[in-house]
Formats: sequence, C-alpha cells, structure tokens
Amino acid sequence: MPGSPPVRPFERAVILAVGSELLGPQRLDTNSLAMTAALNERGIDVLWKAVGADEPESLARLLARALADADLVLMCGGLGPTDDDLTRDVVARVLHRSLREDRAIIEAIAQRFAARGWEMPANNRRQAQVPAGAVVLPNARGTAPGLWLEHGEQGVLLLPGPPREMVPLLAQAMTAFVEPRAGGRRMVRRVLRMTGRGESLIDEVLQPLYRAWAAAALPVRATILAAMGQIELHLSAVDVDAGRAEAAVDAALAEARAAIGRDVFSTGESLEAVVGELLASREWRVAVAESCTGGLVAERLTAVPGASRYFEQGVVTYSNAAKTQWLGVEPALLAEHGAVSDPVARAMAAGVRARAGSEVGLAVTGIAGPDGGTSAKPVGTVVIAVALPEGMSSRTLQLTGDREQVRFQSSQAVLDLLRRTLGG
Ligand code: AMP
Ligand code: MG
Repeated sequence: MPGSPPVRPFERAVILAVGSELLGPQRLDTNSLAMTAALNERGIDVLWKAVGADEPESLARLLARALADADLVLMCGGLGPTDDDLTRDVVARVLHRSLREDRAIIEAIAQRFAARGWEMPANNRRQAQVPAGAVVLPNARGTAPGLWLEHGEQGVLLLPGPPREMVPLLAQAMTAFVEPRAGGRRMVRRVLRMTGRGESLIDEVLQPLYRAWAAAALPVRATILAAMGQIELHLSAVDVDAGRAEAAVDAALAEARAAIGRDVFSTGESLEAVVGELLASREWRVAVAESCTGGLVAERLTAVPGASRYFEQGVVTYSNAAKTQWLGVEPALLAEHGAVSDPVARAMAAGVRARAGSEVGLAVTGIAGPDGGTSAKPVGTVVIAVALPEGMSSRTLQLTGDREQVRFQSSQAVLDLLRRTLGG
C-alpha cells in the first residue's frame, strides 16, 4: 500500500460495534469476536467493547471515551449508504477532520453496480465520503470500504458491518497497520473438540491437568465451552516468545488428548469434515437414510467442500411407507417393532447401503418431539445405525432437549458412531 503509514505497535484496544439493530432482540454483535481474536493474536488486549445505536451524539461520546482509554479503536458498522449510517461523520467530527469525496471509491462503487447492469443510486455517494487523512481499504465484497486513521499516536480502524466484508478487511488492516506488540507478548491459542461425553466428566478428567498447567513456568489457560452435542477445550498461553508459548500450548494439548482419548475428534475441524476425510482416505462412499433428522446428516456432510468424493446419496424416509418404498424395510418389521427401533434402524442402514451400492450406509430414526413420545419410547428416543462392509453397529439413545437439540444431537451421534467405527 504506497504512501501508507508505518506499521505500529499498539497495546490497548477498544471495540465499538455500531448499529441499532444490534440493540434489538434479533441480532447479536459477532464481529467483535473476530476482532478480539485478531488483536489477541498480536498481544493486544481489549479493554472494553460497546454496542452503540445509530445515533450521532451517543456515538460521538462513545468514541471520545474509547480514545481516552485506548491507543487503538476498532469500529464496525454504520458505513452503509443510508441516512442512519453515521460512523464516517461521527469519526470526522470527533477527530476534527473534514470529509472529502474520494473519486476512486465512487468509481469502484459505480463499477460494482455497472457489473450488474444497474445505475449507482445517488445515496451510495455517501460511502465515498472519507475523513481527511484516512487510508482507504478497498472492499472487494461490498460497497463500503474500510478506513484507517491515525490520530497522534492512536489508530482508528473503521470496518463495514457485514461479517463477510469485515473479516478480510480486518486481516488486511492488521497486517498493514498493526504490529504485534513491540517486545510484547504473543498469545497462542489451540482448541480440542470432543463429543460423546458430558462436560462435567471431561472437566473431572482434566482437573489435575488444569492445576499443573496453571502452576507451570509458562502457565497455560484452559476454558471449556459446551455447545450442542460437542465440547471444546480452549487452551492459550502468552509469552514474549511466540515459539515458547506455542510449545507450552502444544504440550498441554497433547496431555489433554491423551487423557480424553477417543472422545477427541479434532483440533478445529468439524465432525462432518473429520468423517469425510476418514471416508475419503478409504475411498469409501456413504449413503444416508434419515427420518427424524429430515436431511440434516446429509446437509452436514455435503456442507464440507469436496464432499462429492465420498457422499453418494441421501433419502428422507419420514413415513413408514417411505421406509418400505425407498429402503425395502419390511412392513412386518415396522409393525412388530415400530419405526423407532433397533431392527428398523438397522434395516434402514442396510437398505440405503444396498440400494446406493455404497460401502457405508447411515440411518437415523427417532422421536424429536415435542409430541409423539410414549412411556416406552419417550421424546428423545433415537436409534442410529452404521452399516459397513464388515458389519453393522447401532445404538439407542435417550437425548434431552427441544426438537432442534434432539435433531442436531442425533446427527452428531450417527456421524460420531461412523467416526469411531472407522477408527477416527
Ligand atoms: P452496516 O455497515 O451498519 O450497514 O451493517 C450492515 C449489516 O451488517 C447489518 O445489518 C448487520 O446484519 C451486519 N452487522 C453489522 N454490525 C455487525 C456486528 N457487530 N456483528 C455482526 N453483524 C453485524
Ligand atoms: Mg448499520
């Protein structure tokens, strides 16, 4: 970037997320999480963060307060073309800059519209208003560019609100303007993902490790995050020497992995991606027969890029008739055991495998609720089956939670059973 300011070390950051929609019950500020990660990676701490309305006076006060506390201020949102997008104006006012129209931005926006065969609406010109002295970060994914301003020793970064636009500009700005804290500390993070065991059980196994890590010469911090159907262990260490921090975190990761064993499925990849790689490495293909998950297992498997290497087909066989029609499940079997039963799950897995001609067949059948449970088969009763060339495995699960939770955990359980049977 010619003529841009030098890369500088910063120490203390404040994040301001701008947008009245973020103060309602529908939308959450998630951008600040990505921003925090990018800052922490460079050893920069976030002092505080705030979500501000599209309201110029309160935004100006927030920014003034941020500049009183921090040497780096990251703002996102409010850079759109409409009247409620005020970030540029407020920043210009607080930093005592005039606004000027940037020709290059207008041309870039006009080109985006022209490429779709549209005229540029007049209000998009607002997005070309730039506070004097700002460095413009072209936005390849949208109309609002990012802006970098220096105010004495302080830095102010303005980024567009939509996460897919914000993330690449954030990375670009960090590399261009923000140096890892000079002589400062670097934070290294690692994550371990696991499934198949409750949070408290995992915690119990890890307790002695936590104590040892906390007492080590270079302490490793551990946090457990439980999400639906999986648990994440986050490990981090901070040191001036990034290599040393990395070695400490990697050693802790290996210890945690050894303690937890096969419930660990990855150091970051999703369960469906892990299962996909296991299938691809054997050159096996999978077919899926789903009842209560309604296609969720197929959706998850095919969401992974490259799934065509191993995903053959999926069917949603919700009714008994469909289980017979598409999978060849005997009506007598359904009548005798019911649709949610081990014999039917096995017949579904075998049926889809045979009809697809694939090495692997998966099946899920269950009662997702809130209705449909009985005393013998309450809501959350789910049967999963995995058919492989060497034989069949199945499990009957009693899951808890609402419909969405039961469905997700069912998909998680069948993918995890496949992972384990493939030795992953
Ligand atoms: P704006 O740049 O204010 O026009 O924001 C455009 C859109 O980006 C908003 O409608 C939100 O959907 C999204 N957005 C803005 N700020 C955030 C944020 N802090 N976290 C996640 N999404 C956001
Ligand atoms: Mg907005």
